[in-house]
Formats: sequence, structure tokens, C-alpha cells
Amino acid sequence: MSIRPLPDVLVNQIAAGEVVERPASVVKELVENALDAGARRIDVDLEEGGVRLIRIRDDGGGIPAEELPLAVSRHATSKIASLEDLEAVATLGFRGEALPSIASVSRFLIASRTADSGHGACLEVDGGRVGAVTPKPHPVGTTVEVRDLFYNVPARRKFLKAERTELAHIEDWLRQLALARPDIELRVAHNGKPSRRWKGEGTLLAEPRLHEALGEDFVRHALRVDHAVHPGEMRAALRLHGWIAQPVYNRAGADQQFLYVNGRAVRDRSIAHAVRQAYADVLFHGRQPAYVLFLELDPRRVDVNVHPAKHEVRFRDGRLVYDFVLRTLQDALAQTRAGIASPASL
Ligand code: ADP
Ligand code: MG
Repeated sequence: MSIRPLPDVLVNQIAAGEVVERPASVVKELVENALDAGARRIDVDLEEGGVRLIRIRDDGGGIPAEELPLAVSRHATSKIASLEDLEAVATLGFRGEALPSIASVSRFLIASRTADSGHGACLEVDGGRVGAVTPKPHPVGTTVEVRDLFYNVPARRKFLKAERTELAHIEDWLRQLALARPDIELRVAHNGKPSRRWKGEGTLLAEPRLHEALGEDFVRHALRVDHAVHPGEMRAALRLHGWIAQPVYNRAGADQQFLYVNGRAVRDRSIAHAVRQAYADVLFHGRQPAYVLFLELDPRRVDVNVHPAKHEVRFRDGRLVYDFVLRTLQDALAQTRAGIASPASL
């Protein structure tokens, strides 16, 4: 066979293989777009665990009608424009491939309006085939509808699990988000019935949200952590804040371990290891600590462009970050043992 460029739709479908694993990944990408657009309130409507329908509506800045075709084009983004921007990404998205990928494996619709436009517009994409922009009334903000995920990729559709399993994945991810963004109001409905409502509660991680996401027992045993240092090589402080559970509150698994780096939920083996290490002397073997931790640092010292789904990051100063996390948590735990700090009064 001779070498030929792949058709666009196929390129997008290949990218979808990395970005869109299941309905929860679609919800994640769309909600992140809403947050990047400055939304204060996000409505998530689901049918059949998101397989039949995912509809996300936000009150963010919206997209001008003439840019709708760009929004669903590959590698088109409003979030970065240069390598310099890429090296200091402050938004959740930046790759410009979520919408085209999702739209290539579903029946997709995006409707939007910006504050300075009198009316809204809408664009449909069916399995990657892009339609024409048409006028459509819409409040300021954006709605994205994704129907029949993987309808044109039977091999992927086959791997979708039962409705309640897919819904559970979506809810897990929304909980992760709700913990990090208590300032955002998030409403979720499934099969036409409201299933969850996270009220916007201001800028601090407030008790009701911790309580709802992790339970009363976690809150009762939670220690507040907040420590910062300023290493010379970083432009901004290195800060770790959040809540860790006292050792008497522990888990069989890692189900209550939430780590965010510059606001992004990530999995990081090295930091997870540092946390476990801090608890090494105070937890029974095989038991896991519970925590909600936010690590903040100079965005130039952390590479977020490691994984297409952005679940992982790479630190330029891995050792320094590891030691900082370890020492901060060791100190916090030592203080409780010495009886200096009492359980957090939230
Ligand atoms: P990325 O988020 O990496 O830029 P996406 O494919 O997710 O790529 O989105 C492409 C572009 O579409 C974004 O850069 C943004 O300009 C626009 N966009 C997508 N969703 C929204 C939204 N909910 N509100 C406003 N703009 C949006
Ligand atoms: Mg995006």
C-alpha cells in the first residue's frame, strides 16, 4: 500500500481512542471546557448512564457563531497560541482535540451565544460529518449534546458497561470536580430525574461539600494542612493545602485519595508514595490514608502535556516536590500525636 494521509474524520476517531474511553471521559472534557469558559453554573443531563445522552449546559462566555466550526476542528483552541503558553498552561484544556474527537464518535450538537451577540447559533456533527451553522436561540453560554456515544464504532461500544457502572464513573469524576470547585453550582439529572445538586458555596472548600463527598467520619477526623515554601528556582510558592485524615480513620483502598495539581485532578505515583510514606509509621500495614490535597506550584515547573486525557503530570523538580509533601504531612501528623492540633474545626 502506498503512503497516504488519513481522512480527517478517521484522524479524529483515532484521537478519540485516547481521549474518549467512556461516557465519563466525555463529561470530564465538556465540564472542563465549561470551567475554562468561566461558568458559574453547570447542568449535566444524562440518559442511560450517558450512553444515550450527555447534555452539558453552562453559563460561561460562549462561542461566537463564526467560530463554531473551529471549535469542532482538530488542534484549534482559544487557550494557547505558542510554546511559551504551553509551558505555563493555566486552563484545564489546551490540546484542541476533545470536541472533534467526541464529535467523530457520536451524534453531536453544540449551541452557544456570547454576551455581545443578539442571538445564538448551533452546529451539528454526525459521526464526524460537520453540518452548517444555523441560528438558534440560546442564553449566554454553551450547550453541548452528545448522543449515542460510539454508535459508529461498534468495537468501542461493545466495551461500555451497564448503565449504573457508567453512571458511577461519571459520578466519581463529578465528585472529584465538586471537591476542587466548591464555587461552582453543579446540577446532575439522570433519565429525567434530578440525581445530585452541588450548590455553589463560595471560594473555600466548605464543610458541606467535604461532608457530602467523603462522609461525616472523614470530616470528624480531618486535619487541616496548609504549608508553603518558596524554592529559589520557582517563580511562585510551592504550597500544599487541604485535609488529611488522622491515622485512626483509614481505608482498605485508595477510594478517598484526592490529589490536585494546580487545580487539576491527577494521578501521581510519586506524590501518592510520599503521602503513604508520611503515614508509614502510624498506619497498619495494608491500610490506606484518606486525603484531599491541593498542590500548587509555578506552572512552568510542571508539564501537563504528558497524557492525552491529562490524568498525569510531570514535575521538573520531582525530588523537591516529593520531599516537600513528605515533610509537610509528617509534621502535620506529628503535631496531632503530640496533642498540639485537635481535629479540624471546619
Ligand atoms: P481545548 O479545550 O483543548 O481548547 P476543545 O476541543 O475541548 O479543546 O475545545 C475547542 C475550543 O472550543 C476551546 O478552545 C474553546 O475556545 C471552545 N469551547 C469549547 N467548549 C466551550 C464552552 N463550553 N464554552 C466556551 N467555549 C468553548
Ligand atoms: Mg477542552
